[in-house]
Amino acid sequence: MTIPLRQQARVGSYILRQKLAGREKYPLVLMLEPLFRCNLACAGCGKIDYPKPILDQRLSLEDSLGAVDECGAPVVSIAGGEPLLHKEMPEIVRGIIARKKYVYLCTNALLLDKRMDDYEPSHFFTWSVHLDGDRQEHDKSVCQQGVYDRATEAIRRAKEKGFRVNINCTLFNTAEPERTARFFDDVMDMGVDGITVSPGYAYERAPDQEHFLNRTRTKTLFRDIFKLGRERGSKWDFAQSSLFLDFLAGNQTYHCTPWGNPTRNVFGWQRPCYLLGEGYAKSFKELMEETDWDAYGVGNYEKCADCMVHSGFEASAVKDAVQNPMKAWAVSRRGPKLDGDFAEDIPLDKARPAEYVFSRHVDDKLEELGQSGAKDRTAAE
Ligand code: SF4
Repeated sequence: MTIPLRQQARVGSYILRQKLAGREKYPLVLMLEPLFRCNLACAGCGKIDYPKPILDQRLSLEDSLGAVDECGAPVVSIAGGEPLLHKEMPEIVRGIIARKKYVYLCTNALLLDKRMDDYEPSHFFTWSVHLDGDRQEHDKSVCQQGVYDRATEAIRRAKEKGFRVNINCTLFNTAEPERTARFFDDVMDMGVDGITVSPGYAYERAPDQEHFLNRTRTKTLFRDIFKLGRERGSKWDFAQSSLFLDFLAGNQTYHCTPWGNPTRNVFGWQRPCYLLGEGYAKSFKELMEETDWDAYGVGNYEKCADCMVHSGFEASAVKDAVQNPMKAWAVSRRGPKLDGDFAEDIPLDKARPAEYVFSRHVDDKLEELGQSGAKDRTAAE
């Protein structure tokens, strides 16, 4: 795992303080989405399908730092949309670092070269560059030629300038183990500090609904990739806990921990998690205290059936590691188990059916913005 030791120590002492305070539910990573606007339109993205008046909304510097203070998580992941389109992003990042929080700034890297000098290298700051595979796979995933080359060139420049750089890779059912393993070798050769990898979540609004992974395919795919890495002696530095990787390989039965990565965006505090927008709370306190958490998660809700995404399950793995440090140590020493039966999975037969509420939230927001007529002019329905 490539999370720097001082970051691990700071997050560890935060968890200890939560335990001593007797808190059962607490956030680890704030998912800050200051805008939905993007300069790409990826087939597997469920975040940019909003009418123009909503895509034009931004969380201000004040709102963004207010969310950081309200939430209190030691790590902030800035997602979107494309965060580098936000004019106040350098101030937002500086404000978070001044609070001694770790910032991961997610970007598709199209503007990275141009905006890089607005930021300074710091152990509190990491560029998290979206790369879903090699040149051909990534350009296909983002539906635009040439993006891989621009992103990898920007990664090289950022490393030369002394920045920490991770890649953020989402895998779909088109991923080939051999190719993915080669891609991980390539990005490590580029000098990236860490790889964050996750199966894609089947966003109901994503244009491409055919290529999301189900749970069994996910586990098999990750076992196959990890096996190749082991056989060829690859040194892949994953920016994820060893127990989360073991979960991806099908060896852990985890319920998700949606409050571990709470999401603040232009609608408010999103219920229940980064992946699902089923409702919005006005404050972090309201989110934590008034969300019916048991209504969500694998086995509870149809839309959660195939989810194994890090924003939902990394916090479950961290919680397990805190409760079972010897198990976590053993898995980190030997790596994920790559053969034999999978751990028993959560039964899905009692899950409540999906509710389709996207249009209602969009309409409410448009009305709030005095743009209720806009819904008739958009594809929001
Ligand atoms: S399983 Fe959990 S993290 Fe995944 S979509 Fe459902 S509530 Fe969100």
